[in-house]
Amino acid sequence: MPRPSARISGIIPSGKDGWELHFSAWQRKEAGEPIIMLSVGDHDFDTPSETVEACVTALRAGHHHYTQLPGIPRLRAAMAKLSTQCTGIETTIDQVIATPGGQSALYAAVHAVVDDGDHAIVVAPYYATYPGTFRSAGADFTVVEARAADGFQPTRAAIEAAIQPNTRAILMNTPNNPTGAVYSRETLEAIAGVCRDHDLWLLSDEVYWTLGGGEHISPRGLPGMAERTLVINSMSKSHGMTGWRIGWLTGPEEMITLLISLNLVNAYGLNDFVSRAAIEALENGYGVKEIAELYAGRRTLFLDEIRGVNHVVVRGSEGGMYVMLDVSAIEPDCETFAWALLDAEQVGVMPGASFGEAAKGHIRIALTQPEHVLKEAAKRLRRFIATYERKAA
Ligand code: PLP
Repeated sequence: MPRPSARISGIIPSGKDGWELHFSAWQRKEAGEPIIMLSVGDHDFDTPSETVEACVTALRAGHHHYTQLPGIPRLRAAMAKLSTQCTGIETTIDQVIATPGGQSALYAAVHAVVDDGDHAIVVAPYYATYPGTFRSAGADFTVVEARAADGFQPTRAAIEAAIQPNTRAILMNTPNNPTGAVYSRETLEAIAGVCRDHDLWLLSDEVYWTLGGGEHISPRGLPGMAERTLVINSMSKSHGMTGWRIGWLTGPEEMITLLISLNLVNAYGLNDFVSRAAIEALENGYGVKEIAELYAGRRTLFLDEIRGVNHVVVRGSEGGMYVMLDVSAIEPDCETFAWALLDAEQVGVMPGASFGEAAKGHIRIALTQPEHVLKEAAKRLRRFIATYERKAA
């Protein structure tokens, strides 16, 4: 075949990542081993039945057609209302565009702010698709690590040190995947300050905003930020709709208008019946409170089971769907730890190293199992650590 473009070839991240472990755990589970999978961020429960019924009704009612490019007006209105809640800034329908999932909103945001050869700053630990998304836009980026010792809160000094003359944007995520850290007001004010002082865009990935534990703070709501912030949102996590592929982007109206042209050439609107179901789910908040309570309960239970285990330090783990444990005092190489845990106790977790430097020495646990399974996983983890330490001694 003729040569593929450098952009498409560059999207695939090179080198090792934690997915090898995930796929191995998955294969072994399929083969009948009693593996507990705590490696992936997809819910273990189905979409709320009211949302499913709304979709079936929409299908039967003949909603099989093209939709308006930025989303059906009622869908945009429901999304704008949620953005008002999420960001604390009154949001109009013209300031949102519906997208096929949060990843698509992220892709649109990145393509909206960088040109070929521009530079961006990506705050780590980060969601695995971030580097590839910048590569797909031909942009260069610098990863700024939020240190484990700081509870994975990034600092202004570290971000500012990474700025180059062609830097156009900062990408951050709170509540954070993989660490579960919820950025403090102080952290967000620091990041906002850098954006204002250096005239940068802030791409703020807030797909876990309903799973933050307390009040959600969006940097879009800070002074002077609404005009330079694009908020990535999704119904995947908050509404239990990962497989439906529906999300949205919030930003200044002029930018949303430009993004409608991107939609023209890459998606041409959204799935009609999914949009209708999403309207019902958004307007009625189907599942939102229950899902938030479920993860809060799981987090508390798992952390209670783990706290007090010798040499394990809990970091971040305040929100989202994840818990991050520093296991470096037991085994400095977190990949070795994760593989040995899988072999000895049939528990699949992600090695922190697969999310960048700062998360090295950690393991990420996805709270995507019922409480009794999480309790059993914690028991196996405790037993593994006790045995590992005895062997090492
Ligand atoms: N952003 C973060 C931080 C995520 O963890 C995910 C999915 O896991 C996404 C964005 C994309 O979500 P989706 O495309 O399912 O809406």
